[in-house]
Amino acid sequence: MKHIHLFLIIIISFSSCQSTSNPKKIEIGTISKIDVHSHYQHSRSYLPSFLKKWNMRSVLVDVAKEGPEGVERSWGHYQNHATTQPDLYFLCSSLIGTGIDAPDFATNAIKLLEEEINSGARMVKVWKNFGMVTQDESGNFIQIDDTRLQPIWEYLKSKGIPVMAHIAEPEQAWRELDPQNPHYGYYKNNPQYHAFTIPEIPSYETIIAARDRWIKNNPELQILCAHLGSMSHDVDMVASRLDQYPNMSIEIGARFGDLAHQDSEKVSAFFDTYQDRILFGSDYGNAMEETSMTTDQLNEEEKNLEQNYTRLWRYLASDDSLEIRGQKSKGLHLNQNILEKVYAKNAINLLKLE
Ligand SMILES: [Zn+2]
Repeated sequence: MKHIHLFLIIIISFSSCQSTSNPKKIEIGTISKIDVHSHYQHSRSYLPSFLKKWNMRSVLVDVAKEGPEGVERSWGHYQNHATTQPDLYFLCSSLIGTGIDAPDFATNAIKLLEEEINSGARMVKVWKNFGMVTQDESGNFIQIDDTRLQPIWEYLKSKGIPVMAHIAEPEQAWRELDPQNPHYGYYKNNPQYHAFTIPEIPSYETIIAARDRWIKNNPELQILCAHLGSMSHDVDMVASRLDQYPNMSIEIGARFGDLAHQDSEKVSAFFDTYQDRILFGSDYGNAMEETSMTTDQLNEEEKNLEQNYTRLWRYLASDDSLEIRGQKSKGLHLNQNILEKVYAKNAINLLKLE
């Protein structure tokens, strides 16, 4: 429920302007790709051939959330899905702070992570419930730099497993909704994350500062900040963190609208400077079993995926005029070397893939 934006991304169809001719066009299939941030919980008959056509493999990222019945995870779905095509899928486990006051919290969390790493997890995701949702017994929102989590980071360092961190939200969540903002629709539909209307939620600055301290205090832990580290509205903010923290890298999924809102030449220079630490991700996914869908729904889903991946490719690889989440922009026209790094090589290095 809380992750509903994924499905909206797939369902909503965006309009895009007619492409201008691109003299040095790179064919999509020639660049090997890894979607480092996907939520394909369930298998699809069309997905293996779709991914092969795109020359893409995919990291299936679990998310741990609080539900009415306690912690909710989808690890089992992802694990089942990954085993259907081990050549196409990798796994990412998840961690949540619920129950952090228990003396054996870290020990139990490590035990579970160990099992899932042994079952193939290459990374562990922490989500925005750190900072914005989950409270300890004293009623404090648990920030990601909480010392009670430290044994878990030590364990992950010892295993060489990176953390994918979706901490905080776009700045828009702490502001009055602006219909021009790329995240307007999400907060309209998910008011529980519109921090502007929920004064108990700590400030954007508080959560980002805790995240920064955590990265700084764990220089041997590789931290992949999802969604441009929730600083997607300003690549300068991202750059300042990348300059300070050598163990930090970023993933760009579901924030292309924020990038498109900024000057393309500036964003292109940002990609050039940090080309070894930017990873492609989409945040696309599914939530229904194939057997409960009609042929029309499946065809529609595949068509939308094709359009959406194509739009992201055009933004990164071409100099086409296009529109993403209502933001009119021009493609970044990244060169082949940078595209190869962002689309796959950086993920291969971070996750130690073949
Ligand atoms: Zn996600």
